[in-house]
Amino acid sequence: MIPQKLTRQFVVEPGSKVDLKKFPTDWTKTKDAEALGKNLIKERANQILEESRKRLDAAQDLLYASDTHSVLLVFQAMDAAGKDGTIRHVMSGVNPQGCQVYSFKKPSAEEWDHNFLWRYMKALPERGRIGIFNRSYYEDVLVVKVHPEWLGPGQPANPDDKFWEQRYEDINNFEKHLARNGTLVLKFFLHLSKDEQRKRFLDRLNDPNKHWKFSDADLAEREHWKDYQRAFEDALSATSTKRAPWHVIPADRKFIARALVADIIVSAIEDLKLEYPKVSPEKLAAIEAARAKLEKKSNNKEQPADQEETTA
Ligand code: AMP
Ligand code: MG
Repeated sequence: MIPQKLTRQFVVEPGSKVDLKKFPTDWTKTKDAEALGKNLIKERANQILEESRKRLDAAQDLLYASDTHSVLLVFQAMDAAGKDGTIRHVMSGVNPQGCQVYSFKKPSAEEWDHNFLWRYMKALPERGRIGIFNRSYYEDVLVVKVHPEWLGPGQPANPDDKFWEQRYEDINNFEKHLARNGTLVLKFFLHLSKDEQRKRFLDRLNDPNKHWKFSDADLAEREHWKDYQRAFEDALSATSTKRAPWHVIPADRKFIARALVADIIVSAIEDLKLEYPKVSPEKLAAIEAARAKLEKKSNNKEQPADQEETTA
């Protein structure tokens, strides 16, 4: 488990003005990391990921059994920051029936014909389950803030500040509604440096098996790096709340990002202090009766298994 003192520094303080330059992209270069000893960091991070996976599997089982809450995990980042890999590694130990991942692309004509939150509402996790949004309603204040021409039909050609403020307000109200109705909302911005993105794009170009991941559009969006960072700063400043906090996760080292995200998710679910449902006296009596019946059968060794049901 990572001490809360450490994970808390990645949370965006509600109401604060975010300056992304003040958040590390490479945690191994920070003072905390130096104190830990560089050689140990990767090993320790992988241990934490492993432990967190086991804790997460148990926490999800309890989440499902108690049936009082759901969990919504929101992932946003620049291209190649490792959203897919983080989701895959963190969730790999969890019962697939207990979680669902949605990846949101450019909206369809039908989606554009509704309010901007519509398609996300339809994909929310039901009680007992973990829902992951790989991109989310935050795209509607990020990519389209950088490219207002992509807002879709019926939207202003030159949206002013008020337009964005209203969207942040809608998002805050939406998340308030979710929290009040038993959804734990956690948001992760995987914070990548521009140079690390360059290296990862080059990796994709140099490896034929990764060519499919590369798109010309990725390079075009890289040209808008500063605009995206500003849009992220605005969104994170306006929408980090106690009930739905943003975490700025240093993403230049994948093993660090994965360990942090895993630990933060499972710690937050454990903090819900969920309990298995209490069984009624009638049900306890039925359980005892069933146990007695089954134990009696297993003691009756002479009876062949295929005759059991017909002669019982
Ligand atoms: P990828 O996740 O790499 O497959 O890319 C999905 C693309 O869809 C990204 O370029 C996103 O910016 C874009 N996208 C996702 N949501 C929206 C949205 N609400 N409006 C416009 N573009 C979006
Ligand atoms: Mg992409």
